[in-house]
Amino acid sequence: MKDVLVIGAGGVSSVAVHKMAKNPGLFGKVTLASRRRFKCDAIAKSVQERFGVEIATAEVDADDVDATALLIDQVKPKLVVNLALPYQDLNLMEACLKTGVDYLDTANYEPRDEAKFEYGWQWAYQDRFKEAGLMALLGSGFDPGVTSVFATYIKKHLLDTIATLDILDCNGGDHGQHFATNFNPEINIREVTAPARHWENGDWVETPALSERQVFIFDQVGAKNMYLMYHEELESLVKHIPEIKRARFWMTFGEQYLTHLRVLQNVGMTSIEPVMYEGREIIPLQFLKAVLPEPSTLGETTKGKTNIGDIATGTKDGAEKTVYVYNVCDHEDAYAETGNQAVSYTTGVPAMIGAALMLNGQWRGTGVFNMEEFDPDPFMDMLNAHGLPWQVKELPEPLKF
Ligand code: NDP
Repeated sequence: MKDVLVIGAGGVSSVAVHKMAKNPGLFGKVTLASRRRFKCDAIAKSVQERFGVEIATAEVDADDVDATALLIDQVKPKLVVNLALPYQDLNLMEACLKTGVDYLDTANYEPRDEAKFEYGWQWAYQDRFKEAGLMALLGSGFDPGVTSVFATYIKKHLLDTIATLDILDCNGGDHGQHFATNFNPEINIREVTAPARHWENGDWVETPALSERQVFIFDQVGAKNMYLMYHEELESLVKHIPEIKRARFWMTFGEQYLTHLRVLQNVGMTSIEPVMYEGREIIPLQFLKAVLPEPSTLGETTKGKTNIGDIATGTKDGAEKTVYVYNVCDHEDAYAETGNQAVSYTTGVPAMIGAALMLNGQWRGTGVFNMEEFDPDPFMDMLNAHGLPWQVKELPEPLKF
């Protein structure tokens, strides 16, 4: 039984559902449910036109545990794939526990009123999932997700021990808009404006947001400014690969994006503190999201490539070695295949792969798991087979910064 219920109908979901429909051997019936059904129907129409596959659609508010559990009982899937927003993670985990169904997501739970990017809330479900004989797989996107699997691949095949790990996320794409984010604007801006944090010798080191910049030459993209940031996979990676002495995450941003962001921040539009407006409370960042382009509409105009990967330095057979594992994804190719740009594609494909591995039993366990807890090999093979081929390079020396 390989039926799935996908929740959320944004860009990431659209890619995952197209890919599930394209691989009928890996998935049974696909049902897509979201807050607004017309978004699900639009994805279902595109899937039908592209691959001739029917998917069912439904409307559900995933913040409502009982309503979601009712839907799960009606659909009877083997797995719930959460591609809504991080705010829904705990409610969807509750609904899965209530109905006895496995769970997968791509981003850690976030409370609406606090930007934390911590796994603690979801790790706390460990015993309940274990006792119920169920599995929850956290963070099956690209970062977290593929970058976590790259780290375990490095550990399994390329280095005996990892001393330093740098995750480099470059989007060299141009969507032609003055300002837009490539995935959910609210989550994206919360992430970018949070203080940077990296792991060094057993502790977190915090620095102001976007204060540390380096230039890196990305294969097939070119030289880009990248900024030190905090990203959730750092927390689980240093927990599960405890030998890592230093772990950092870098993301590229263009000047135009940063200038707009600075202005929006300076005028208070990125705040998650409620303000009164015409007699009602609004959250400035949520209002900003409402006026920005939806990420799922950017596909048609976005050109260029993403390049995301891990650079690790450690030892192999007693000698120091630095390796780089990365994927390059073309925005226009992603759009031609699924109608979505590469940031949605690089997240939706790993969500589909994580789901397939759970359904076929290659990744199996009871409890709550992060990606790096499983054998990387079947996941890495599927990346090559399903549109996200990766490369390995040995670098002549460790990163100089
Ligand atoms: P979008 O905002 O495009 O899509 C989110 C979808 O969830 C929308 O269809 C939205 O409905 C729906 N939704 C929101 N609230 C609810 C609710 N209460 N009940 C049911 N559905 C709801 O986001 P993206 O597709 O860009 O991102 C999806 C997820 O992927 C996010 O959690 C994001 O953080 C994560 N992500 C992970 C990455 C990774 O590499 N690991 C990278 C990029 C994203 P509506 O359309 O009505 O607004």
